[in-house]
Amino acid sequence: VIHLRPAWAWIEGRLRSAPAIEIGDEGHIVDVALGSGVPDAELENVAILPGFVNAHSHAFQWGLRGQVQRDGQGGSFFSWRDRMFDLVAELDIEDVFQLSRRAYRAMRSAGYTTIGEFHYLHHRPDGSPYQPETALAEAVVEAARSVDVRLCLLHSAYLRPSGVDPRISPGQVRFLDPSAEAFLERHDLLSDLLTEIDDPLISLGVAPHSIRTVSRDDLWQLARETDGPLHIHLNEQAREVDEALAEYGERPLDVVAEAGLLGPRTTLIHMTQSTRDELELTLGSGAGICFCPTTERDLGDGIGPSRDCLELDIPLSIGSDSQVQIEPFAELRLLEAHERLRHQARLLLPSGPGQSRAARLLEIGTSGGARALRVPSGAIRRGAWADLVEVDLTDPDLEGFEPDLLPDLLVFSATPRSIRATWVAGRRHVAHPRVDTSDGEL
Ligand SMILES: [Zn+2]
Repeated sequence: VIHLRPAWAWIEGRLRSAPAIEIGDEGHIVDVALGSGVPDAELENVAILPGFVNAHSHAFQWGLRGQVQRDGQGGSFFSWRDRMFDLVAELDIEDVFQLSRRAYRAMRSAGYTTIGEFHYLHHRPDGSPYQPETALAEAVVEAARSVDVRLCLLHSAYLRPSGVDPRISPGQVRFLDPSAEAFLERHDLLSDLLTEIDDPLISLGVAPHSIRTVSRDDLWQLARETDGPLHIHLNEQAREVDEALAEYGERPLDVVAEAGLLGPRTTLIHMTQSTRDELELTLGSGAGICFCPTTERDLGDGIGPSRDCLELDIPLSIGSDSQVQIEPFAELRLLEAHERLRHQARLLLPSGPGQSRAARLLEIGTSGGARALRVPSGAIRRGAWADLVEVDLTDPDLEGFEPDLLPDLLVFSATPRSIRATWVAGRRHVAHPRVDTSDGEL
């Protein structure tokens, strides 16, 4: 049993002074004591927060960092996607493991303790299946286990190149399954594999890639024949909306709703091209939305309607998506900052009842993500996993902080440098270790 007595901790949506947190041998929080009678803080210069949840990641895209910012590549989402296809064409199993490992290690240092890995890279470079078919998914799972982060593997279905153009780009052959049945067979294999691994850090969900790449009929089948969290990219680009109108005569969210996909298990990724009606439909269904603002900014996707979503009280979460930046504070800050640029005004996201704007954003980054991935973490409370972040209050960015303003300072001013360590299931990992390159690999 481990006893933590930090100067501060984020408990039930508020910063509490000198609580006592007890972690059991299995890695769960077994007790949280507040108020008087609690001994003086032992971790004097530390505030403990729940670990952040990265609800939307494509780990292999770590390999695009720094590679997609030069001229001569075209300047659109779809030309970025061509570069991504080029990367995909050359990766082997070991590359996928190493790229994922680097991404997950950076995430853990930045304060993410749980990752939703939206995994759609399934086949050999020529499109033929690996033996076993789950080889690349296993590489991703093993990468997460090797750096000790919690992972929800969102097994992604990619069943056609597009709804309006049957031509297959060379990179896409590694994503494509011939049918929903073929995908579901591999889903069963993965489910069996995770049962066999029996690691409480690893769970399984399903992720139809998008309505571009999965037809309405196939969406219907996937929704019906799977359980657990269900994620889908939606309303990311204007072209996606146009293609849905061309194929179905409807906007993407209506297609998804008719396919029976909307419900409390569902998280819609991006929604940067959404109307108010679509947000109301989302709210009524119990589905949540995941914004990935550093990626949406990098790809020119548009601005996620976080203000409307919070006014409606739609459950939100964040994701690092393309890995252009791995910083939970930055994702949260941009939800407000992008609305400021759009409206040329300040203080736009509504705070919750009795809750500051920054506090509400911290909840999105922690319990909001845990909800999207259906994992019992994201909060410091009895029974939750001891997935935690230690904030170093001696960090220069926090110098002279007032405790009451600490959430605001973290969300609007801090960087991952202020994170001293992360805890995953009660195991502590020092943040920002220098990378050892002596053996030639990371
Ligand atoms: Zn994505």
